[in-house]
Amino acid sequence: MKVYISADIEGIGCVVRSEHSSPGGREYERARRFMTAEVNSAALGAFAAGATDVVVADSHNVGLNLIPEELDERVRLIMGSPRPLAMMEGIDSGFDAVFLVGYHGCAGTADAVIAHTFTGRMAEVRFNDLVIGEIGISALLAGAHRVPVVFMSGDDAGCREAEALLPGLATVAVKQGIGAYAALCSHPRICRQRIQKTAEAALRACSQSGFPAPLTLSGPITVEMRFTTASGVDRVLRMPRVERLDGNRIRYQAADVHEAFAAFNTMADLIELTTFI
Ligand SMILES: [Zn+2]
Repeated sequence: MKVYISADIEGIGCVVRSEHSSPGGREYERARRFMTAEVNSAALGAFAAGATDVVVADSHNVGLNLIPEELDERVRLIMGSPRPLAMMEGIDSGFDAVFLVGYHGCAGTADAVIAHTFTGRMAEVRFNDLVIGEIGISALLAGAHRVPVVFMSGDDAGCREAEALLPGLATVAVKQGIGAYAALCSHPRICRQRIQKTAEAALRACSQSGFPAPLTLSGPITVEMRFTTASGVDRVLRMPRVERLDGNRIRYQAADVHEAFAAFNTMADLIELTTFI
């Protein structure tokens, strides 16, 4: 059994502000140790449930957060960037299940800790009529390869978002959001224990009674994105086939999930990284 783990940092226990999530931030070194420990707990849960191969994608910032030597030796790690599939690089139909560790709510969610969708300049993303954030986008990329997401850990708002989108998923809420940058947090050791136990139980239940259906959107996909500023639209209009809907909204017609993601990801980079245009 092969398990793919995508790991972010904003949904890790005791991570609540950019001082934790930004490399160079005052609390970042502590946050990346917490992230590494929670990913390791999920991997240990997967191995205990019978996984023979666990691939982890370090999916925050430029993919240099997890501390390789602190992970279980059986884990293989995808690190660095840029990567065509970003947070889900390396996913393919050879995997049986996906775990999302340290994930968080989509941009615009109330009381969701550090809620965002790829960049702080993104206000809302829709694929057809589905409003999605990083949970939904990762689940759709896995679903395009017929792989279901069976476990997620993160803040309570992120867990609710995942449960609504992915029936049959097991979750661990490591903190209760008090606002965008504050939370009531469980002790790091308790987070790790719960993640290991729940991930193991989820994967074991799937292998015994069947895996949930993967999240899929078939046929052409209408991508709609609302940015926080009109200048975001000015920047992405240089991409072919991007239509402006109003001051800060665009539409892009894609043939399938992979094209929809490629367009989304390119626009996310354009509005975030190229401050000179
Ligand atoms: Zn994120």
